[in-house]
Formats: sequence, C-alpha cells, structure tokens
Amino acid sequence: MAMTFIPDAELLPTVVVNAKLSREEKHDEENIIGLTNLDVTKSIGETDANLDAIIAHYAQTITKYNMRNLGYPTNQDFNYEALAPLLQFHLNNAGDPFLGSSFSLNSMAFEVSVLDWFAKLWEIEKNEYWGYVTTGGTEGNLHGILAGREQLPDGILYTSQDSHYSIAKIAKMYRMKCVKVDSLLSGEIDCVQLEASLLAHKDKPAIINLNIGTTLKGGIDDLDLVIQTLNKCGFTRDRFYIHCDGALFGIMLPFIKQAPRISFKKPIDSVTISGHKFLGCPSPCGVLITRLKYMNALSRDVDIIASRDATITGSRCGHAPIFLWYALKKRGLIGLENEVHECIMKAHYLLNLLRDAGIGAMLNKFSNIVVFERPLDDHFTRRWNLASNKNTAHVVVLKHVTVEMLDSFVREFTEKQSIWYKDEQFQPPCIANDVGSRNCACSIHNLSRNC
Ligand SMILES: *Cc1c(COP(=O)(O)O)cnc(C)c1O
Repeated sequence: MAMTFIPDAELLPTVVVNAKLSREEKHDEENIIGLTNLDVTKSIGETDANLDAIIAHYAQTITKYNMRNLGYPTNQDFNYEALAPLLQFHLNNAGDPFLGSSFSLNSMAFEVSVLDWFAKLWEIEKNEYWGYVTTGGTEGNLHGILAGREQLPDGILYTSQDSHYSIAKIAKMYRMKCVKVDSLLSGEIDCVQLEASLLAHKDKPAIINLNIGTTLKGGIDDLDLVIQTLNKCGFTRDRFYIHCDGALFGIMLPFIKQAPRISFKKPIDSVTISGHKFLGCPSPCGVLITRLKYMNALSRDVDIIASRDATITGSRCGHAPIFLWYALKKRGLIGLENEVHECIMKAHYLLNLLRDAGIGAMLNKFSNIVVFERPLDDHFTRRWNLASNKNTAHVVVLKHVTVEMLDSFVREFTEKQSIWYKDEQFQPPCIANDVGSRNCACSIHNLSRNC
C-alpha cells in the first residue's frame, strides 16, 4: 500500500545481485588487472620503474573496460591533461565557498564560478542562492533533505519507489518518517497515489524528493503536477519543501526546449546533480544549489578555518570544482546543448536497433536511458558493464558511447540470444510489468506495434 511507512529493513540500500563475483571469477579478474602485485603489507619501498609498470598495466586494463562501458551514467569522454600541474598541490575547500577560508590553498574562486553557472541554469538570483560542490549526488541529497527537515522538523518525506537508494538511506540516517509512493510505468511518481498519501498525513508538513530522472528508467517526476497536488491537498507554501534530485538529467533538461523546466521561479527549494555523470570527471563530485534563506539554520561559524560550516563534509576536494569549471568553460552552452542532443539521438538509435532485433525495449521522452529485457547470461551483462534490476537492464548513452559500440553490443546480444533461447526451455523474460506491454517482446506481447 502506498501510504505505509517504510520498515527499517527496506531502508537499507538494495543489493545488486549480479555485482557479486564468485571467488574464482574475482581471482581471474585480479590476474587480468595485475592486482596480484598490489600487496602493500610487505612493501619495503618500490622502484619508480616497477610502480610505473603497475600503473601502466592498470590503465591499459581500464581502457579496455571503457570500450564496453554502457550501463552506468559516468561519461568517460574527457581530457583534463591541462590540469595535470595542479596534481602537485593539496587543494582543500573546507568551509563556505562564499566566505573563503584561512587555508589559502583553496579553489573557492573556481567553485563560486561553477555555482553561479548552475544558479543561472536553474533560474535563481545571485543574491538569493547558496550552494557548494559536493562529493556527488548523494551528498547533494543529504544536504537538500536536511535543509528541508530543518525548515519543517516534523515533516514527512515523500518519494517514489523508483527513487535512488540514497533517499531511503537518508530517511534512515535522519530518522525521518518516509512514505514511499508508487510510480508509473515510466518511473515517474504517481500523483494519484501521492495525493492519497498527502491527504492521509495532512496534519504534517511535506518534504518531497522529486526525481529529475530516475536512475533506472530516466522517468521525470512531473513538478507542475506535484505542486498542483500539494495545493489541492491544502498544503500552503510554508508547509512543503521540494528537493529535486537531478543527478543525471538536472543538467540535461535545461538544454531541451520542450522539456519541463526546473526553475527556482517555481516553489522548489534545492536542486542537486552529480558532476561525474553527464559532464564526466575523473573523481566523483556534484553540485548543490539551495535558497540562501535556509542556510542560517544549517550553519555555524568556525574559528579554525575562519569560515562558516554549512557543508555535510569538512575537508572538501579542491580539484573537483576546477574539473567542473573546466568542463563547463571548455564546452560552452552550445557545446553542452549539442552534446545533450547527440546523446538522446544515439539513445533512439539504440532503441531502434534493439526493437528491430526483436528485443523488448523502452526509452522515455527526453531520456538517454534505454531499458530492455535483461540478458540471460550475467557474464554478458558484466562484459558490457550493464546495470540490471530484476527483469530489465539498461544502457545510459553518454558522450563516450559511440554508434560503433552500440552496433557491436546489439550484434553480440542477438548472437547470444540465439544460443540462450535455442530450445523452448528458456524464453526471453516478460517485461510488460516493468515497461508496458507494447515495449515487451515476450511470446505473449511480441512488441505489439499496433498500439
Ligand atoms: C546516481 C544518482 C544519485 C547518486 O549520485 P552519486 O553521485 O552516485 O552519489 C542520486 N540520485 C539519482 C537519481 C541518481 O541517478
């Protein structure tokens, strides 16, 4: 039932079953990577030549993996060699980027430039926003939902069942009451269910976690409909807080003309993205933007760094803001817009390839995530680094994913299928319940194109 609170056990992150490698497989992989040389417990100091050889071997292996990296939303197409001179410094942005810090080896000037760019993207005035560069989307969610809870201490957190696993974890960490709301087939939140849940808990304020692109299907929660639903249920502006989890799509949607607007001109309160997803970055990072007026409740002046402590972590990576700055500055608005359209076009290309090969598949509007029937063989899934969940798997088309990669992926998939489903005993899974019957190619639904 949609209105029940989530029991503690369910709040734990879901475990991806096929992420577990057997011991032998793990051993094989370690040999390929050359990890057997990595033991440091007996090291008495290593020569530069040996260290170079280990790293070169590792880089070679990773390069090979990169050519088949389809399932995770991490863009691998970047070149930050120009920033190599900065690896000689420890850069640390502990504190509030807008106040600076007494630790002068910081990159807060770059950080504020990046934040200003995102504030403009999501339409909030310079003097009305606050934000910082985080360690990733999860930290952005931690901060956004914390700000919501500080505003509305007895608020209930509402989030759809397609939400990222970090949301349930955060509810547990903050000991917040959390209502999981059903999703539609697209992955977006079902506002009929949301309405019923809101009405059932009308006495408590609402903190909404809004998915701007769900992790698995790329479903976009309908912000305008959510706001309408809140109003209809009698929640006035002072009794709700909306946090937008835009990990992957938060930076893509603003470049698609027909897409719904993420804007602080609407009654939203915080937005976050992951920097390493669409933009691509050698290490995880993210951006959080919120309304400045919420910050007093969250911050404290700290003498030792001569700054204000308002972030989730203490020491913060000083390189990450420079990577983000470089990624934005180098592409420019036109470059980013072209890249967004290129990814979506290639996602459509993949959708058509799969469907033409008789493989059930779905692609949401404005999305670059193609969802399809889960390959029978987990070895194949791992070979292409696919993310899978129950009966489905997905490919996230980012800049590094080429048409050639997609061609050879589908070719190999169909070759394998003719082996997996050779005898009647095995059949492609029915994915009608996951993606709708017209996207399903099982023997009953057969990609019914008539609807
Ligand atoms: C990836 C993702 C996150 C978490 O981002 P990290 O950068 O991995 O912490 C949160 N929400 C959604 C919807 C995501 O897809």
